[in-house]
Amino acid sequence: MPAYEYRCADCRRRVTVFQSYSDYGKIQPVCPECGGQRLQRLISRTRFARSEESRLESLSDPSAWGDVDEKDPRSMAKMMRRMGGELGEEMGPEFGEAVDRLEAGESPEEIDRSMPGLGDDSGSGGLDDLDD
Ligand SMILES: [Zn+2]
Repeated sequence: MPAYEYRCADCRRRVTVFQSYSDYGKIQPVCPECGGQRLQRLISRTRFARSEESRLESLSDPSAWGDVDEKDPRSMAKMMRRMGGELGEEMGPEFGEAVDRLEAGESPEEIDRSMPGLGDDSGSGGLDDLDD
């Protein structure tokens, strides 16, 4: 029988409730600690990690960025901002500057020339990869 994690609004404990698949969603779970019925479903860490992984997978697949026009710097800037947001990381001042300049309409080649260090740290994902 699968176990579901809940946060109990009554006793404020994190509890595990066992429910069959057919009961889940139909039968109101009851807190095993206090008997309260105000349980909030918690998303398990493993599930979160898995979705994180698949998001990164889709990031590495160029076809996932279907609406990106490589000839349009603003479109690329939008994609790069989205990529930075998806990764949830600070991409560094160079990355931010490159995006700003793309949005200003500069070509990736120009930016690449004036910022020779761009993309070197990660080994991939630099503007070079997006050139044709
Ligand atoms: Zn409780």
